[in-house]
Amino acid sequence: MISDMRYFIDVYGCQMNVHDAEIIEGILRAEGFSPVDDPGDAQVILLVSCAVREHAETRVLGRAAQLGGMFKESPVMVLCGCVAQEHGAELLEKHRELDIVVGPDCYRELPRLITERSRVGLTDFRNEDYEGIQAVRKEFPRAYVTVMRGCDNFCSYCIVPFVRGRERSRPRDSIVAEVRRLSYLGYGEVTLLGQNVNSYRFGKIDFPALLRDVALASGERTWIRFVTSHPKDLVRETVEVMAEHRNVCKQLHLPVQSGSDGILQLMNRGYTVGEYLEKIRMLREAMPGIVLSTDVIAGFPGESEEDFGRTVELLEEVRFDYAFLFKYSERSGTAASGLEGALPEEVRLERLNRLQEIQRRITVEKSGMLVGRELEVLVTGPARRPGQQVCRTPGNRTVILKGTDYAPGTFLNVRIEKADGWTHFGSLPESCEK
Ligand code: SF4
Repeated sequence: MISDMRYFIDVYGCQMNVHDAEIIEGILRAEGFSPVDDPGDAQVILLVSCAVREHAETRVLGRAAQLGGMFKESPVMVLCGCVAQEHGAELLEKHRELDIVVGPDCYRELPRLITERSRVGLTDFRNEDYEGIQAVRKEFPRAYVTVMRGCDNFCSYCIVPFVRGRERSRPRDSIVAEVRRLSYLGYGEVTLLGQNVNSYRFGKIDFPALLRDVALASGERTWIRFVTSHPKDLVRETVEVMAEHRNVCKQLHLPVQSGSDGILQLMNRGYTVGEYLEKIRMLREAMPGIVLSTDVIAGFPGESEEDFGRTVELLEEVRFDYAFLFKYSERSGTAASGLEGALPEEVRLERLNRLQEIQRRITVEKSGMLVGRELEVLVTGPARRPGQQVCRTPGNRTVILKGTDYAPGTFLNVRIEKADGWTHFGSLPESCEK
């Protein structure tokens, strides 16, 4: 044990960051650090940052400035994550409230750096996979397990390959052992995480082989999901494993980004719209009723009205259950930031609004089709409103139950009474607990 300091941690961004924060807590607690819920009680404040959008970066640096000026005895202020990696030690000059800046490959150094109270920026790429670290999971009965880190794809709008480094995969045996242990501990859902899980490879083991082994190791009482999938790397074998194993959720997030081949090329996505649609067909053929979601960027540089129209057609054709829609925002340091044909902000916004309108209608229609149906759900915990509980379906839909008090981790069958697209309200048919 090297310290008994109290820490407060705050996370921004994607599931990778949420799980990285759990890893950071594992590293700190193993060295004697203890958590507090109020930053005012902390001797160390850690912010895990996201650099995907300029806005997220501004937010986390704003939060650092706010916390840094708040307390009489200033805590050690640590910036972790992608913003730390992107800007490194130069942040220490610009943001005097920061003491330590640490990139995603250097978290093992945190206990030493904090106790030494060094004023330092550490951003080496170390091909780190945090093997052997006991993550501190806080979202029982849902758990994340990282299977690979980094990305080699260099989509032209994305900063991730620059801040997360090259792809590397964790050993199969260690992933399987971790999932088996979580399943034994009663976790009802495990999400395999990676920037591009479909390109997982450890020796001869590829992603379909890993998914099969994980599905077998976790048994029927633990659902398996995985995120994020790159369409060009989603292969038939993965779809077959999903279809074969009852505990692999029939749900997939498959970011398409645009419905225009020309724009996909400018984005350096590595597939055409036709190839993407072929994968959707393959998924639906193997798993009718699979819940599909996607990401779309509206107003990419050079996107004509015609290109945009193709994206509209794609949304209408595929009818995703959910879509995460963004307007293009320039990210300095990426190839797209140098592209000609940048569209005015109002055009990007107007296109985003049109996509949102279309998708809202489709999402509401598709969730409305569930009303009256009985679905299996996993109870995940209390809802914000007293007397209600939140559950998840295998399709990752939210279901609210009123007046129940089941332990998180319980599987139930519920009847869907009402749905508004994103939230579903369920009731219990008689004697349904599994
Ligand atoms: S696949 Fe593309 S969008 Fe996803 S992390 Fe890699 S570069 Fe970024």
